[in-house]
Order: sequence, then structure tokens, then C-alpha cells
Amino acid sequence: MKKEDLKALFKEYERQAKEELANVAAVREDARGILKPEVIRRQVNKRHGIVLAYGMMGEVSYSLSDLKRFLKSLEQFQKQSHIGGKSVRGVPYAKLFLASRAIDVERSKTVRNVILYQRKGNILYFQVSGNSRPHYRVQIRLEEWDDYIAEATPIFKAVNSIVRGRISFECPCGRHQYWYRYMATLGKYAIEPLETGFPKIRNKGLFGCCCKHVLKVLKELVSNRIVFILCKELEKERAKSGFSSSRKGQILSESDLRIARAKKLSNAAANAFRKYEKEAKELLEQTKPRAGRKMKVSKELLTALKAIIPVAKVNPAIRKEMLTSLGQVHNMSLADIEAIIKENKLQ
Ligand SMILES: [Zn+2]
Repeated sequence: MKKEDLKALFKEYERQAKEELANVAAVREDARGILKPEVIRRQVNKRHGIVLAYGMMGEVSYSLSDLKRFLKSLEQFQKQSHIGGKSVRGVPYAKLFLASRAIDVERSKTVRNVILYQRKGNILYFQVSGNSRPHYRVQIRLEEWDDYIAEATPIFKAVNSIVRGRISFECPCGRHQYWYRYMATLGKYAIEPLETGFPKIRNKGLFGCCCKHVLKVLKELVSNRIVFILCKELEKERAKSGFSSSRKGQILSESDLRIARAKKLSNAAANAFRKYEKEAKELLEQTKPRAGRKMKVSKELLTALKAIIPVAKVNPAIRKEMLTSLGQVHNMSLADIEAIIKENKLQ
């Protein structure tokens, strides 16, 4: 394959996938017979069953006891605090596996290929091989990506925290659509299209989480090659002055596409990867408080700390930020500043 071909290939793939998505949305607009949660609640309150029109399939009726069962699973799912959350988006990486059905985890082992080909802000696009269709376009949103753009955390460590942090996802396959998208919407770990219709036929108990395609992508997400590519992407993002241009979708560079497709990192990439790893370790060493050595504390710094601590107590959310910038002024790490606070009993 010629050099420029790979990028063109994925550009065309992205165009087709988007077009397909628009078609699905159009069909969905026409759909009838969708059981929305507020309808379930209303009917149960009225102690009535419901008859839904299903287009070609004619009419299907659900009895009051059907609806009561649906409502019970709905309320149980909403109560489960381990999945999703009230105001935060995404689910922590490890919990996505725990919440998934064993059968999906098993099936994910049969998925042949996963290739990361595009990033758009905090959303990653993967091409995943399928059975009934050649490919599925799986999207993964890294909910903690933006937090680490402004942070001073070493790149390698930042990326490792991001990929194991909170995640939202979308897969266009039937399993996700009919079984899990509704839960993802409710649990705030969905990416559009959202689903408000209760999965009344296939997943009445609201059990499970990820389809085999998403599980395969999640496994891939923490691999060396993806972590390496994301290190470079985060570096790029940090070098930019603002957020604005980061929301545009960019097919990965030709060389990164090759890394994403390869079974393992090439020598040059592996060396670069180790460099990231090493820098992260070194920087962490440096930021550790210099134990056993009394630090020279200027009068100026003490005065500033005495002014900041009471404010930080009222607003703990900005404490770290304030102390970090104060440290920068005095050429000290956050850990140093914290050690000074402790030594001088300023808390
Ligand atoms: Zn899927």
C-alpha cells in the first residue's frame, strides 16, 4: 500500500460511517412503539396496560404487570450507584468490565480487529471488525481528557490515568442498540444517538453494559500502541494555546495509523514509548517532597500561604490550583508546598 493511501482509506471509512448514522437516525424518527420511561410510569399509576403501534408488525400490548416489571428494573438500575452517576459523565474503566455480561466478555475474544483511526477532542474513533457487517465504528469518549490538558502531570502518567478513568461509549451494532443503549443514556455514559425507549423485548432486567465490540476496544485502549499514540496527541493538545481547534476531527497521521494497525510497536516507537515512561518516573521523583531536609522558606512565601490557606479551606476545590501556582512562583513543587504547610503547622 502506498503511503498516502492509508489515510485516504480511513477518511472514506469515516465518511461512510457518518452517512450510515444519518440514515439510522432518519429511520428512527419514523419509529413508533417506543416505550418511554414516563409512559411506563404514567400507565402504572393509572393501573393500565398499554397497546403500542408497531408499524409493519401491527399492535403489541403490554399488561399492567408487564409494565410494573419494567418499572421495577428501571428503578433498580437507577439506584445502582456503581454505574454512571448523577452529575458526572462516564463510568470508570474497570467497572465497565465488572458490569458487563460474561457472555459479552467471552464473545469479545472472537472480535478480530480493532484500529484507532481518529480523535476529535476527547472522542476516539475505532474501526472494529464485525460479523453481520464488515465494520463497526465504535466511539469512546475519554471524560477525563480535558482535565489533563491543563495539568502538569507527566504525559505518560496522565494518559494512563485518562484511559483508566471515566469513559462513555457508543457502538452502532444491534446488541448495543436493543440491549444497552438505553442504560447508557440513563447512566450518563452514552454518546449520541441517545435512547429513551425501554428495552422491553430483549433486556427487561436492564442487565449488562458493553457489547463485544466495545469490550474489545476497551482492552485495546490500554495497550502500548494506543497509549503511545495518545501520549503524542495529548502533547499536541498541551502545546496548543486554546481548546477551540481541538474539537475538529483529525484522521491520525499516516505513521500513527501504521502503529495503530501493527501487532506491536516498531523499534523507534518502542524507544519513544520508553522515553515517555522514563520521563514520567523521573518527574514523579522530582516532585516528591525532599524528605529529611528542612526547606528554606522565605518570609514572602509564608505570608502568601497564610493568606491562601483560609481561602482554600472555604473552597477546597481550588486549593490544589492555588498552591500549585504559588509553588511555580517560588520554584517549588506542590509536594514541597504541602510539606512547608505541614512543617509550619499552617493548616
Ligand atoms: Zn457493538
